[in-house]
Formats: sequence, C-alpha cells, structure tokens
Amino acid sequence: MKKLIEDVTCAGCYCACDDIQVTIDGQQILEVQTTCSQGQAWFERAAVTDQLVPRIQGQPVSQAAAIKHAIELIQQAQAPLVTGLSQSSTDAQRAAVALADQIGAVIDTGASAGTRALQQVGEATCTLGEVRSRADLIIYWGAADLLANARHRQTLETDSAEMTRKIIAIGEESARETDHADEFIAVESQREIEVIWQLRALLKDVAVIGNEPVGIAESQLQSLASELKQSRYIVFFTGPEFKQGPLSHRKLEALSLLIREIQRERRCHSISVPASGETKGAEHVLAWQTGYAATVNFAVGFPRYSPAEYQASRLLEQSEVDLCILTGGNPLAGLTAQAIGNLKSVPSIVIGSTLPQDFQPEVFLPTGITGIQFPGSMYRYDGTPLPLRGFLPTVQNSEADVLKQISNSL
Ligand code: SF4
Repeated sequence: MKKLIEDVTCAGCYCACDDIQVTIDGQQILEVQTTCSQGQAWFERAAVTDQLVPRIQGQPVSQAAAIKHAIELIQQAQAPLVTGLSQSSTDAQRAAVALADQIGAVIDTGASAGTRALQQVGEATCTLGEVRSRADLIIYWGAADLLANARHRQTLETDSAEMTRKIIAIGEESARETDHADEFIAVESQREIEVIWQLRALLKDVAVIGNEPVGIAESQLQSLASELKQSRYIVFFTGPEFKQGPLSHRKLEALSLLIREIQRERRCHSISVPASGETKGAEHVLAWQTGYAATVNFAVGFPRYSPAEYQASRLLEQSEVDLCILTGGNPLAGLTAQAIGNLKSVPSIVIGSTLPQDFQPEVFLPTGITGIQFPGSMYRYDGTPLPLRGFLPTVQNSEADVLKQISNSL
C-alpha cells in the first residue's frame, strides 16, 4: 500500500533539506519529490544497500568473518587512523570517536582549519533562519557551489516586502558567478588575507598610505567597504575554496577579526560551508567527547590535539598510518589525491552504505542509511541538529551498530 511521508530530511549534503516528500510502498521508495538531483541520487541509494555484502579483499564473506578480520587488523595496528565521518549520523560519529579512543587511534573530522581559527579568535555565527529573516547583505566567499544550489537559495527566500537584500559573490576570476549574485568581486586566492586586512583598515578609517590595494581592484575594495558600512545585517558564507591552502586557518582568523570590527556598529556573522556532498557535525561530536573539534590522537590514552600534525591527509601522505578505518556515506571526503593514492597501500576497513569507486579496502562492512532505513540525527551546515527518520526496512545494520559491534568484540 502506498504511503506518503512528508517533511523527510535529506542527508545527501550539508543543506539537510527537511521538506522532502517521499512515497513508499512499505518496502521501497516509489517517488521522491525534490528538484535536487543530488537528493534524488541519495534516496535512490536505498534501493541497492540490501544487495551490498561484507567483503574481504573484494571477496564476499559473512558479516561475522568480516568483523573478525577487522578486529584482527585493529589488534595488529600500531598507528590506526579513523576518518571519513562525512554523511554519517551523529550516533555513528559518536561510535567512531569511541572506537578511536578505545584503540588509541588518530581521528580526523576534516575541520582542522576552522577549528584552529575558532580557538584563536572565536566565531560569530547564526542559523539559516536568522539569515533568511534579517540579512540584507550576503557574501559568498569561495562558496560557488552553495550559491549555485537552488535548494539553498529557496531556503533563504523571504516573503517580507520590506526586506531588500544584496548578494555578493567573491572568488577567483575563473569562478565568476553572476547568475545568482548581484555583483561578483574577483580576488586572487593567494591575496585573500591581504584583502581582508585592507577591508579592515578601510572600516577603521586607517589610510593605507601610498599602497595600491593588492589582490583586488581598488574600486571594488572601496565598493565592498561601502556595502559593509551601509548594511545592517551581514552574513558571510565561506566555502571550500576559501579554506584551501596551508594558511587557510589564518584566513579564517582574519575574517573573524573583520567580522568583529563590523560588529562594532552592525550585526555580522559567518557560516562555514563544507564541500559539495559532505556534511558537518563530526567536529561537534568530537568536541563533546574530547574538548577538541578536529584531529585528535588517542595513542597515549588521552586526547592530544595537534591540528597540522594529525591531519588525515598528512598522515597518509607521510605513510605514518598502518590501518585506516573509513566511515560514512562519502568515506574519502576531504582526502587529497596523494593521500587516497597512499591509502591503497595501507590495510583499510570501510564501514558505510557505499563502497567508493576504484577503491578496494581490505574489509568492507556494509550498512543501511540513517535517514531512510534508520532514525538518527545530523547537523545542518549552520550547526542546527535535525532529526532523521527511518521509514524503510533493511537487512543491514546501522553504521553506529557496526562500529559498536567492533568495539564490543575487542
Ligand atoms: S540540497 Fe542537499 S540536502 Fe537538499 S535535497 Fe539536495 S542533496 Fe539533499
């Protein structure tokens, strides 16, 4: 019998749209009412999860044999790494942190740049509801994917006739975006820190005597400063392009200081946006459990934090890992190409509802999908936790259950 389920949350990306209508027949999804192709693809994955089987070196095995082999690998490992965690539910992220703690592993949530900046200068942030209701200037900095996302733009639509809003996109000339922005400002990516400091100087009426602006045209720098001065509520969305490079944490620090400056006379917040297909939340879970939001090493029995040293990509690139445990619906998210290349020569355990293409782990433990086959919760990219529903049966275990089975068997 057909059944319509309303207001389902999609966990296909950081947006966590919670207004999806899904029609099911009790066993499978018949229709998903969304205009988002990525969301359609995420719901369609539920049709194949039951066909996934546990594997060792690509060969089908029983669940018990796969768990047993995973445990042997963990017991032999001297320097295990737990990473992935993208498109994982909060429960699964919590179980992954507990496993990392138990086996003395490094765990990386991929949020080290944001965390380093946050710990130095703090972060003024807000929810999407506040952006929708109050923001009269929204700046997308290195966040072209978010600006291009129709679902995101719909979320910010307001019926208020009194609300006028300007949208500015900032990025490299090659990412020029004018379809959804009122204005595009080209900034050289290597010069973004200087551009932020120049803006800060202009807002403080400090003359940068004799110096031409660097990284940005002078007219655009002046125009941007004037927009900041004229607006009442400003929100910066900082995307993955803004957080690239070894000094990305310095850029985030500079932006936080600029926001502090703007806040002397008007409201201003920032929301950090992950890459397309990734979700946020693991950093919150790790912070509850350890006090640190990224890159924690449990090797000596208590959490040690060193954001540059314990980054998953760096550890893999330097061959400092002898076992990698990857979880979530997008387990290779955030790893560099070189790290993924090196990962192929390290024993790995993948626990999730999908097996990445062109990558064969030593052990694959399939799971169902939280949000379709299991209830749970996840964080939207503005830091708001949302409930996920389970409305379809599955033969698989949840990701959290598989992680707990391993923990309980060690
Ligand atoms: S934008 Fe993201 S959360 Fe929303 S429907 Fe598309 S994939 Fe799902």
